[in-house]
This record gives sequence, structure tokens and C-alpha cells, in this order.
Amino acid sequence: MKISDLPIKGNIHTDEAALKRLSRDASSYRIKPHLIAEPGNEEDVLKVLEYTQKKGGNITCRSGGSGLSGAAVGTDIILNFKPLMNKMRRRGEEMVAEPGAVLKDFLQKVNNQGLMLPAVPSSSAWCALGGNIGTRSTGPRTARYGTIDFFVSSLRFITAGGEIVDTREKLPDFFENGLLKIRDRFLADQKSRQLFEQRPFIAGGYNIQAFSQYEDPKELTTHLLVGSIGTLAIVTEIRLKLIPFRPSLGTYVAFFRSLDELGSAIKKISDLCPSAMEFVDATTLSHIQGRILNASDASITGALLVEFDESSEQAERGRAVLESFDLSRLRTIPVGSKDEADLWGERRRILPSLWGHARKKNWILPSIIDDVAIHLNSFPSVFRDLRQLMADLGHEIAIFGHIGFGSLHARPFFEPQRGDLVEQIMTVSRETFQLLQKYGGTLVGEHNAGRSRSAYLEMELGKAFGYLRDLKQLFDPDDVLNPNTLFDLDPITSHMDLSR
Ligand SMILES: Cc1cc2nc3c(=O)[nH]c(=O)nc-3n(C[C@H](O)[C@H](O)[C@H](O)COP(=O)(O)OP(=O)(O)OC[C@H]3O[C@@H](n4cnc5c(N)ncnc54)[C@H](O)[C@@H]3O)c2cc1C
Repeated sequence: MKISDLPIKGNIHTDEAALKRLSRDASSYRIKPHLIAEPGNEEDVLKVLEYTQKKGGNITCRSGGSGLSGAAVGTDIILNFKPLMNKMRRRGEEMVAEPGAVLKDFLQKVNNQGLMLPAVPSSSAWCALGGNIGTRSTGPRTARYGTIDFFVSSLRFITAGGEIVDTREKLPDFFENGLLKIRDRFLADQKSRQLFEQRPFIAGGYNIQAFSQYEDPKELTTHLLVGSIGTLAIVTEIRLKLIPFRPSLGTYVAFFRSLDELGSAIKKISDLCPSAMEFVDATTLSHIQGRILNASDASITGALLVEFDESSEQAERGRAVLESFDLSRLRTIPVGSKDEADLWGERRRILPSLWGHARKKNWILPSIIDDVAIHLNSFPSVFRDLRQLMADLGHEIAIFGHIGFGSLHARPFFEPQRGDLVEQIMTVSRETFQLLQKYGGTLVGEHNAGRSRSAYLEMELGKAFGYLRDLKQLFDPDDVLNPNTLFDLDPITSHMDLSR
């Protein structure tokens, strides 16, 4: 293609090196696109849309490229926001950001103003706000403060048809009417409503619950777009209402011997509303080998990392709860100390540590069942059954996650030496899906849907999945935006790079 075919202010890349670079995100998929467009502004985005309307093809939005479900890679045009559309500013009570704004830079800016956005993924140095909205990101403090969705006040976006929509203003008529029709049907459908209400707090897929939560179509649209993994519209401006910064008032790391005691501690601590409660199992601890997070005692099942920020009394009550269990160790982390920074650094290092272990062994660690969401009371059963399942299938597994809101990252290692990786992966994902069904859990959690798990979302939701299709039909009837990531899917192993 000639660059002059697509005259945008930003950049176009078609060279091999650039295409190869953006052929992957943090998942295991590898798909080489035809072209990369780095838009400089909304006009550029419109020009790219016009181009696809004329020439055919599809568009995949990408902000940080740290997504773990293969939803930021695509076959045709990658709209890469990070290089040029990354501005941010304060406007009154709100922070306004372009989708390419890197989260870490954004946090620095807001923290300097005494504010905080509590939904901070461990990938904050890598991810950007467009992807945070695309996936409906979380972080440890989601346990108390909710996902990024709780902080989004409005969005500006471009539809696949090239219409610019601002959810602070009146929506186009056809769009508002279409949306309200889907909402009316959903509200009258008791069975589907119940199904969505009963899913775990962090269950992914479109935010269908918004139909019950927001009367105003503008608000409804904002919250439907959060977590829509680039399949409904292209987000060009994000407005967030933040809250005053709150430091930790007490952080503890408790190492448990007994799984049942761990399960019971999770419930008791959860009743105290901690600002964060993270779980790290013994296998994961053995791979981090951090100064604080390590498996120095062989009898450990796992550790809880708990933070309180409401009051010192709350933190003391939390400590007393932890002390009431048969612990191997309990560490109190001094507030504002180097230990505190190191602890969270070690927490962020978990996934890279597991990648390192896989590399050393010549194993692979594809993100297959890395995004489990459960109800808190099912934790001991799910953990026990999952470990047993992986032992039966012959896989070492590391399990960790934001247990404070029922999010677990289950990471089985795969050995190419054992042959047929596709079969191994399909078996693990299928069997884990069945296991979770027993406990009302889901494979589509905080990292949201995408190539590696959307097929299971459809199985989980059954007829109610139709509401997701209806929304896609309203927003993007020709399936231009990010196809094959939520609907009409290939087998999950298609396009997976199983060579590493
Ligand atoms: C080490 C590591 C730790 C992680 N920890 C967490 C965690 O604690 N919590 C968590 O939630 N996630 C976590 N993640 C997953 C990932 O970082 C998050 O999902 C993050 O929000 C993705 O942001 P991104 O900018 O990298 O998105 P991308 O990968 O660029 O995109 C993600 C999705 O958003 C869509 N999208 C991007 N930009 C736009 C746009 N402008 N308009 C419409 N759609 C768009 C994409 O099409 C894609 O579907 C982790 C990942 C890694 C590698």
C-alpha cells in the first residue's frame, strides 16, 4: 500500500519490523497486521475508518498492548494510540486523557495533585488508558474501590460508521432508540437478568448490568463501552472523576499452612473492607523468591497480602483477625517504608517471574485460564479442585490474584516435550471451564474477553449472550472493529504462538 493512500497527520507503518512488533500483545497470540496507523487526532481516526469503508478490512484498537487475551492484535489495521494520542490534563473536577496516555504517567500526574485512581493494574508502566477502558481494568485496590468503570464520568468515541459521539451530549437518535429497545427487552427478561446478577463481581464480557443500573442513555452508553474490548467503538477521549489520595494505614503479609484457614481468613478480612487483599500460592512464592514474598517454609499453602486504608483501628482489627489463625509467619509492613514499596514491587514481578521460570525449563506459559473470577466463598474448593485437576493432567500450576474481589490468575505450565500442545491447551481450558461452572465462576474475569476465552463466555451465558450480539449489531453492524475476539471465533489455539 502507498502511504499517500491514507494521508493522516500521524504516522503509517507498513515495514516488516513494525508489523512484527505489533503482531503480539501480552497474550500468546501472534497475528501480523497489514498496516499500523498512529493517529495524531480524531480526524486521523476518521480517515482510517473512511479508508476501511472504501477498501474493506478491519480495525483493531491498541493502546498499551499489555492485554492478556489477544484482543489487541488483528489481521488488517492496528490503530495504535500510544505514540501520539497520549495527552492528559485536568479540567475542573475531572482528569481528561487520550487513550494512549500511559497509566503510570497519568498516576504520577494525579498523585501529585493529591488524587488517586485506585484501579491500577500491575502493568501500569506498560498499559494505557484506552486499554484500561477497553478491558475495564482493576488493581489490588479494586477490592474496596471498584474497577475503573466506577471512575469514568463520560467518554468521547467514534462509531464504526464514522460518527463522533460524546456521552456528555445528546446521543444520535437512531442510536439512543436502538439502545433503549435492547434495554427494555433485557429488563423484561427475568432469567437473563438473574444470570448476570449472579455472576461474580469481576465477571467480564459487555457490561450488561449497566442496563439495570443507568436510566440515562448517555450514562448507559459510557458504561457499556467500558470493557467492550474495542469491539463496539473507538474511544478517543476519557474523562475520569478521581478521589483524594489515601495512603495505606496498615499492610500485612500472612503465610498460611492450611487452605481451609486461608479460605476462612479471606471471608473474615473481606468483612473488614480492606483496600486490597491479594493471594499468592506456594508455587508462585517459590518462583518469585522475593525478600518478602518467598516460600522459605515448605509447609506453606499460600500468602495473603492485606492492606487497610480506612483507619488505624481497622488495620489493628485486621491484624488481630490474621493473628487468630495458625500462621507460619506474619509480617507487618511499616507504612511508607522501603519494605512497603518492595512488597508491591514483588507483587508486580509475579508474572515476569513465572515467564522466567518457563523460559528456563523450555516450557511455555500461554494465558489460557489466567483470568478466573469466582465468588469468595468458593475459594478453597476452586483452589483445591484446580490444583487436583492440573495434577491429574500433569501440569505444574501457579495461582495468584486479587482475591479481595474474587479474581484468580491460574497459570499452568505446558511442556512442548510432552507433544501435542494444542490438545493439552484445549483440555486444560475445557476442563477448567467445567470446573468453574460447578461453582458459579467464570473464565472471563478482570482481563476481560478475547481470543483465548470468549468461546467460553458464549457457553456460560447461553441465550443471554444474544444481548452482546444485539449491542454489537447496533454499534458495529459490519463487524469492522476488532472482529474474531468476541463473536464468530476460531478455536482458541488458532494464531497462538506455541514456540515459546
Ligand atoms: C504483567 C501484567 C500484569 C497485569 N495486571 C493486571 C491487573 O492487575 N489488572 C488488570 O485489570 N489487568 C492486568 N493486566 C492486563 C492488562 O494490562 C490490562 O487489561 C490493561 O488494562 C490493558 O491496557 P492496554 O493499554 O495495554 O490495552 P491493550 O492491550 O492495548 O488493549 C486492550 C483492549 O482494549 C482495546 N482498546 C485499546 N484502546 C482502545 C481504544 N482507544 N478504543 C477502544 N478500545 C480500545 C483493545 O482493542 C483491546 O481489546 C496485566 C497484564 C500484564 C502483562
